Amino acid sequence: MSGCYIHIPFCAQKCSYCDFHFSTNHAHKEKMVGALCKEIGIRSENWSSESIETIYFGGGTPSILAAGQIGQLIQQVKSNYLVADSVEITLECNPDDCSLENLKLWKELGVNRLSIGIQSFRDEQLGWMNRSHQSADSLAAVRNAKEVGFDELSLDLMYGLPNMSLEEWKEQLDQIIALNPEHISAYCLTVEQRTALYKLVKDGKLHVSTNEQQSEQFELLVETLKNAGYEQYEISNFARDQHYSRHNTSYWKGSKYVGIGPSAHGYNGTERYWNQANNAFYLKELENDRLPETIEELSRFDRFNETLMIGLRTKWGASKQQLFENISPDKQWFQTVKGYENENLLIQTEEKLILTPAGRLLADAIASDLFLIEN
Ligand code: SF4
Repeated sequence: MSGCYIHIPFCAQKCSYCDFHFSTNHAHKEKMVGALCKEIGIRSENWSSESIETIYFGGGTPSILAAGQIGQLIQQVKSNYLVADSVEITLECNPDDCSLENLKLWKELGVNRLSIGIQSFRDEQLGWMNRSHQSADSLAAVRNAKEVGFDELSLDLMYGLPNMSLEEWKEQLDQIIALNPEHISAYCLTVEQRTALYKLVKDGKLHVSTNEQQSEQFELLVETLKNAGYEQYEISNFARDQHYSRHNTSYWKGSKYVGIGPSAHGYNGTERYWNQANNAFYLKELENDRLPETIEELSRFDRFNETLMIGLRTKWGASKQQLFENISPDKQWFQTVKGYENENLLIQTEEKLILTPAGRLLADAIASDLFLIEN
């Protein structure tokens, strides 16, 4: 089982906190779609035996493409790969792109899951984030999507925002629950260098939340969504009635995926590649039938550490069979695991290592403590 990720490197405007790869210059949109189609074709040679179970349009802002362009890309994947009849096709979209007209077209093209970037229900927060939408757009987007018949909706929200109180966070959680989406993703705001937010914080115009506030908000998030019937199946992802993101779940379980587009990554089970995060370079290379990629063969240590880090973030845990496939940790490692078990941060079964709710608060720290380093 494999997935296909397609990175659409365009956005309407630059959100203040974002360090993903995208451009606000849309002059080469058509050319880019042609290049993406070309890369899909070139890469298919190595993926002929794989069944593609999920196609994920991420970005950037995929919903910025014309419906015909999205259709062209889906068709290109279908003509070049073995695509399962039950394929999950996810489109990340901004609320202001979710008109009834667009939604109907996306549905006709086979898109069956939408991931809508709401981020906040407060217009003043959306303002300093420099989002292209307002809260009313988010409400309309969800209403429209349901009217058109989308029954796999994922909504994104952010916490740890400047001046966000626990009460306000609870209100926002209640608002998202009231929309009754199948899936919710909630991410803590991080201040990345080379972003407008970094400058706002550096100049003292915005004050970031403390680690303690972030932890309190995370705990409230988990508890509130649990009470509303959402299962936390990954640190930042919650689903009701097992409406998991099949695409992301397959990443977390170590499946292979083909990545298309500038800055996209791919993984074939032993090697990882990533395309250059540069639209002009990407277009030029594809024009010359070359892939703008860097390939890295993963060492057995890399694979162990990745399996651990990603697995511990999920409810399924890190599989011992996968972890110990090519490597045997020493006694000290098992003692460290035991220590976390004694602190009630981790559970060890015959098959896997799983973090407890308390352990999930420290997921990254525990994973890095258990990393194996090649001498
Ligand atoms: S829409 Fe998404 S990818 Fe684009 S700038 Fe905003 S956060 Fe970044």
